[in-house]
Amino acid sequence: MIDKSAEFSLPPGLVPPQSGLLQPVDWIVGWARANSLWPLVFGTSCCAIEMMATGASDNDWARFGLEVARASPRQADLIILAGTITEKMGSRLVTLHEQMPGPKYVIAMGACTISGGPFYYDNYSVVKGADRLIPVDVYIPGCPPRPEALLYGVMQLQKLIRAGGWRNSIVHRPVNVSPITDPMAETLKEWEVIEAKKQEEMKEAKERFKLENPDYKGVVIKRIVAPKYDEVAPTPRPERGLAQAEIFANLSERFPSLRVHALPEKSAEKVADNVAEVATETSVEKPIETVTEKITAMGREYVLDVAVEPADYLPLIRHLRDDTDLQLDYLIELTAIDWKDRYDVVVHLLSTDKGHKVFVRCALPHVEAPEIESLSSLFAGANWHEREAYDFFGIRFTGHPDLRRLFLEDDFPGHPLRKDFEYPERVVKRPY
Ligand code: SF4
Repeated sequence: MIDKSAEFSLPPGLVPPQSGLLQPVDWIVGWARANSLWPLVFGTSCCAIEMMATGASDNDWARFGLEVARASPRQADLIILAGTITEKMGSRLVTLHEQMPGPKYVIAMGACTISGGPFYYDNYSVVKGADRLIPVDVYIPGCPPRPEALLYGVMQLQKLIRAGGWRNSIVHRPVNVSPITDPMAETLKEWEVIEAKKQEEMKEAKERFKLENPDYKGVVIKRIVAPKYDEVAPTPRPERGLAQAEIFANLSERFPSLRVHALPEKSAEKVADNVAEVATETSVEKPIETVTEKITAMGREYVLDVAVEPADYLPLIRHLRDDTDLQLDYLIELTAIDWKDRYDVVVHLLSTDKGHKVFVRCALPHVEAPEIESLSSLFAGANWHEREAYDFFGIRFTGHPDLRRLFLEDDFPGHPLRKDFEYPERVVKRPY
């Protein structure tokens, strides 16, 4: 916990009353202000759970005057930062802090808020410390800090406020404009020296102990034998929907160029054979006689994964949705994979009525701006999935009604899930 009371000062031109009539008034104002903080909660990830626990009945931060947690910056004078702050969220944080009336205070709770935490290295999107953006009054270390730690941090802040704390350094900085230095690597070097010294001292202490206690035999640790339980047979999943060979037969009839991903053959029978080979490799014991048995032996876990040409992509998905036998009416997922020599757009579909699934993938050339038709006219949910794939992979979905970045700022350079993405100015490389 950093005590910054020494740095506190009144705004220029204002002289704090040191004596006379105003001193008790100043004391009362400080006391009242410290005991009636209204926090604006800025919970962005896991630390927020501890923050919520601090407000809940067991810990009850109302005991410290933080009764009224606000959802509006205009009614708050303390912002508790609890969780990872991404760059996109960073500019919103600055706006919220600007909208809070002064005097206002900031608590940074947890490693992520203080320094980027586990996302400090090799990360393109996390702000490496909230005080790069707004001034912070109290830092609470931990991952996550417990409610007691947050309460202690609040008490430290109250102490600062009662001491006449009035931050005048309300300076907002643009997100990550300051050059990235790596203080952690420096600390690590210092730590290694300390650690080596400690190991040396421990070695000496052990040797001394042995000389002073030659009869010492050490502690015998008795291990508790773990009890054995009867094996529980897995509950078979209920059989729902069409078998994968049946689905493939339906599709390959209409789309002859269709392939099964990772299996070179294309006919329904061959799929079943190949599927059976995979099944044999995965230790199915009984000899498998017929195609139907082979499919059955593969079990319901296997999901048909078909690769389609770009020209057939939209018609195939439309067929999967509209065919009365298939009825794959739910888009579970649309994403992409960068294979270095190509991109795969991957679509997962489910029949909510029948229960079967189908995976579809479509290979695109590895160019700067690969293009494929949008599915947003078939599934409303494809809209956001495609924006995500555009944001992270740079894949253009033609016919999309509003193709914009989803997670990153509009001016973010490049697409971070591409294998060749590099951002040396922003990403701190791990030194070990
Ligand atoms: S400091 Fe730990 S607990 Fe808190 S947000 Fe970061 S990863 Fe989650």
